[in-house]
Amino acid sequence: MKALSISNLKKTYKNGFEALKGIDLEVEAGDFFALLGPNGAGKSTAIGIISSLVTASSGSVSIFGHDLVKERERAKSCIGLVPQEINFNQFDTVQGIVLNQAGYYGMPSKLALERTELCLKQMDLWDKRNTISRRLSGGMKRRVMIARAMVHAPKLLILDEPTAGVDIEIRRSMWKLMKEVNQQGTTIILTTHYLEEAESLCRNIAIIDQGKIVENSDMASLLARL
Ligand code: ADP
Ligand code: ADP
Repeated sequence: MKALSISNLKKTYKNGFEALKGIDLEVEAGDFFALLGPNGAGKSTAIGIISSLVTASSGSVSIFGHDLVKERERAKSCIGLVPQEINFNQFDTVQGIVLNQAGYYGMPSKLALERTELCLKQMDLWDKRNTISRRLSGGMKRRVMIARAMVHAPKLLILDEPTAGVDIEIRRSMWKLMKEVNQQGTTIILTTHYLEEAESLCRNIAIIDQGKIVENSDMASLLARL
């Protein structure tokens, strides 16, 4: 089963800039996949399209077999997105943030509470559930973002530069949590510009540069060639 299948995907922004120049990509269910590339390569554009935030100019995307255009709602429900910027209400409690998201998905309240508890425990945040999120450390805020993105039990979790700007100790502890989420069966795609991060987490990798995939293989054979 393919978690993600992308074919000849192009994106030209309104100002005429070609951010994606025809991308093909496949990610197997269960994989931990890295999309690596320098700033401006097109990683956020690609992730934006996969998560229905950006409209593609042409090409096709399907998520667990659901075409992103023809079966938009089903495709969307398979995805949990963790954007780069912290965008929750900093005056909400940790639990409130995750519960709100459950409400957004229309979950009945009993299920919402159960899922919230599970996701906060998974991100080591259960004892912080009543803390106003503004008071959390940067690493904890990132983990709230992940817990929130997992509340509807998405099959595919997409993380955009999950550890950008956090120090090495926090980065390592986040790596451990992400590995556990993957081992429990969630497919993960992350973007990063650290090869080290991709190397320690991911089985397969694509490298994107100037809107094109320039490398796509398993991590071990890529490292052997470097
Ligand atoms: P679309 O073609 O998907 O409708 P737009 O061209 O309307 O996208 O741009 C979407 C948003 O991105 C706008 O708010 C725009 O200001 C912003 N934007 C424009 N240029 C850039 C850029 N070079 N990098 C990042 N964001 C940009
Ligand atoms: P990355 O995530 O790899 O840093 P992005 O997908 O954010 O790359 O951006 C790819 C290129 O597209 C960059 O040159 C960026 O300036 C440009 N870009 C991004 N958003 C817009 C936009 N809305 N309008 C015009 N250009 C954009």
